[in-house]
Amino acid sequence: MSSVNSTIELIQIQENRGETPGPTTCSSRLVSPPWTFDTQTPEYGPGASMEDFIPSDAPRQGQIPKEYRNASAEELDLRIRAAKHALGERVVILGHFYQRDEVVKYADFVGDSFQLARAATSRPAAEAIVFCGVHFMAETADMLSGPKQSVILPNLAAGCSMADMADIDSVSECWEQLEEVYGTAPDASGRVPVIPVTYMNSSAALKAFCGERGGIVCTSSNAAAVLKWAFERGQRVLFFPDQHLGRNTAKAMGISVDKMPMWDPRKQLGGNTSEALAEAQVILWHGFCSVHKRFSVEQIDAARAQYPGVRVIVHPECPMEVVDAADESGSTDYIAKAVAAAPAGTTFAIGTEINMVQRLASQYPQHTIFCLDPVICPCSTMYRIHPAYLAWVLESFERGEVLNRIAVPSAITVPARVALQRMLDVVPAPVARVGQ
Ligand code: SF4
Repeated sequence: MSSVNSTIELIQIQENRGETPGPTTCSSRLVSPPWTFDTQTPEYGPGASMEDFIPSDAPRQGQIPKEYRNASAEELDLRIRAAKHALGERVVILGHFYQRDEVVKYADFVGDSFQLARAATSRPAAEAIVFCGVHFMAETADMLSGPKQSVILPNLAAGCSMADMADIDSVSECWEQLEEVYGTAPDASGRVPVIPVTYMNSSAALKAFCGERGGIVCTSSNAAAVLKWAFERGQRVLFFPDQHLGRNTAKAMGISVDKMPMWDPRKQLGGNTSEALAEAQVILWHGFCSVHKRFSVEQIDAARAQYPGVRVIVHPECPMEVVDAADESGSTDYIAKAVAAAPAGTTFAIGTEINMVQRLASQYPQHTIFCLDPVICPCSTMYRIHPAYLAWVLESFERGEVLNRIAVPSAITVPARVALQRMLDVVPAPVARVGQ
């Protein structure tokens, strides 16, 4: 099966010829090279997050040199391989599951964000860690890597619209209001009023916020164990930024949806009454992933109608009704393992980012694997990384220049590590795979 990238290009060619298209894309701009968007009005770029509001202070990528923008795919391939070969153990390249195949093929490790950050620690001799993922992932890698290692994000505009939905100022303001409602004194059993829990998909500043306030980080693999940990220490949880992961996880633990009010940072008390907050067990931040928000119960019904017996697996960042309607829900690691372990001939409808789904379909031709969403709509920000940026940062590093370094100040790293370590003490991280 061809890559998402080449599928998008093929669809565009067919549309230009006026041929009856098969699958469609969510934006005709997906076919444009990512540097088209680097110097325009700030935006996440084409793809699932293109309608999301981008903060004015989101990092921006300047124009990369013409020699990279004009290079053919073949030339970039030769240059990346040559630079990687010349650099040897001095560099390690990490590729997230959602990254385009044209970039992932150079990765030394492939996995989810936390697996990759941990994988980087297995290469202490590497002077540069090139993270082909998004900004918060590079921050986590920087916080877990050695002081002499530089973490490089090939395109600085590769942020995450969900992570951007919770910023340190809004969460601090929320916390102050919650302290006014609940006070700060523990109850008779020693549990404090609120424990902050941040999803890995958040800024380093928010991880530090949790570290400083008795809180913790979670991933989509360990969210239930982390919430259990939090409830042993607190009467309730403030969960950010992804409302869906928080709601789906807490609901599966038996917590009533009525006791999970949403916090809208633009409103006083998040848009809640003090009475509703008094009853709350999990306060959910008003954030979401635009990739996973696209999945629907109607898509699941359509998949079941077309493929009776299909196994529907969705990511827990999907809305609650989608998770409820699916056969299973789990992290990217869960999905990858479920596909690997299935008997040959299994049909899967998968609700997660298209690059990962299409890659699984290529890797496991013995199964029928397709994305629940028939419209091709990749993660906008992962899609901002293209082989041209990888060639640019690698060749620059070979010449002694560290470009696009993501360095988290130690005042943030120290408390953020506390929150990360609490998570690791609850559930050790699984390891990333060695790249193909
Ligand atoms: S898939 Fe969603 S959560 Fe992941 S990087 Fe993209 S926008 Fe962020």
